[in-house]
Amino acid sequence: MRCHAKTKTGQPCRAPAGASGYCVSHNPDIAEERAKWRRRGGKASAWARLLRSAEFSDKTARALAAGVARSVHAGTMGVDVANTIVRLLSVDDKLRRTGAMERDIAELKDYVRAARERKGTP
Ligand SMILES: [Zn+2]
Repeated sequence: MRCHAKTKTGQPCRAPAGASGYCVSHNPDIAEERAKWRRRGGKASAWARLLRSAEFSDKTARALAAGVARSVHAGTMGVDVANTIVRLLSVDDKLRRTGAMERDIAELKDYVRAARERKGTP
């Protein structure tokens, strides 16, 4: 069974309907929950923007992780959103460490090359 509602464009909604005869997006019985999810979604995208825009260090990442933990504890952030942010932090951390290692390796190569040139060995 398809949802009984119409979309913004006036076309019939094609999403599968639940017992209410409406899809999750149109079920009037859960309008309040939907508004809550939207607010949480808004918060999540604000966090995602922050993650993308901020110049990260271990210190800011730790502060952010602590903020996420506090928000979950206070009930203002869902565990799913928190898990996503923590995963993003972990990926960011790996990328930063890999970048630092690549710079160290390049520096060592330069050092070895310079040392060989001084000795006259190839
Ligand atoms: Zn619908």
